[in-house]
Amino acid sequence: MSRPPQRPARRPGGLGAPEPSDDQPRVTGKVVRAQSGFYEVDTPDGRLTAVLRGRLKKARRAEGLVVLGDDVRVALLPQAEGDSGHVDAVIDERLPRRTVLVRRAPGAKGAWSQDVVVANIDQLVPTFSVRDPEPSLRMLDRFLALAEMDHVASAIVFTKLDLGAPPAVVEAMREYARIGYPVIGCSLATGEGIAEVRAQLAGRVSAVVGPSGVGKSSLLNQVEPGLDLKVGDVSEALHKGRHTTRVGVLHALSTGGLVADTPGLREIGIWQVNPADLELGFVEFRPLLDACRFSNCSHIHEPGCAVRAAVADGTIWRARYESYAAMLNDA
Ligand code: GDP
Ligand code: ZN
Repeated sequence: MSRPPQRPARRPGGLGAPEPSDDQPRVTGKVVRAQSGFYEVDTPDGRLTAVLRGRLKKARRAEGLVVLGDDVRVALLPQAEGDSGHVDAVIDERLPRRTVLVRRAPGAKGAWSQDVVVANIDQLVPTFSVRDPEPSLRMLDRFLALAEMDHVASAIVFTKLDLGAPPAVVEAMREYARIGYPVIGCSLATGEGIAEVRAQLAGRVSAVVGPSGVGKSSLLNQVEPGLDLKVGDVSEALHKGRHTTRVGVLHALSTGGLVADTPGLREIGIWQVNPADLELGFVEFRPLLDACRFSNCSHIHEPGCAVRAAVADGTIWRARYESYAAMLNDA
């Protein structure tokens, strides 16, 4: 026996979160837009508007309930004819996450609170211009460290090659490649590197991050002409507005990739790091960590430090070590 069809609720949460019966059909999909309790879920049957099932809201708050990028099981609700702005489905279950990008904040008694900002990201794509504005390698190292600490890969993009990369930036591009990161230089003026960026984003879920003015929006518009992202820092302007909409979006690329844009990610530059984990954020330090004389070596002043020995002999690029020391000092 099936229960009578229910009217979908118009508000997420509160009074009317619909409870689907067990015999309503389920499909699996990905959350590509999240805003104030409403989720757009891409499924093989098309895009559905969904809300969370009541019992899901209570479960595991700390992990975040359902965030942008989550793969979910949804129960389809019976369609109401001519109902505009309707809810099509209820999110029943969140599937296991492959990765999470986590914003951490120090709390009481040395505990750190963790806030999942986006799930199932394959790669962070820190993007800087070779000049105008001059790239901040400190900020780049922060992005790389945050991604490493969450086991998310990174690929680095340098834009505006047509303006001429200063020697220090050319050296940096070489050094990041030596560490093992994909490094792509590109220019919208000459078209150089655009195909490489397109290939790097193809079939992956990416988060393109970096300071404003480096050319992220124009680059993505070039990579995917239908995207129509606003050039000239509109996101920042919206962000400062009084009625900020906390909307997160995954933009679909024709290559099968997705690019995340969410307010939480725009603030990644100021995310906190836990000093105890920081060494794991510098991937080229990792093979050396067991070789330090003290197992809790901070790699700053201890004798017998294998990391500092590697800096001295050039195995580790000194600028990276200086970023590590600066981040440790800030943390
Ligand atoms: P965003 O804030 O990172 O999204 O940057 P935008 O896409 O808004 O671009 C900022 C400015 O940089 C715009 O005036 C773009 O025209 C310019 N720009 C972007 N890419 C290039 C490039 O490859 N070469 C040059 N010379 N200018 C660029
Ligand atoms: Zn050490």
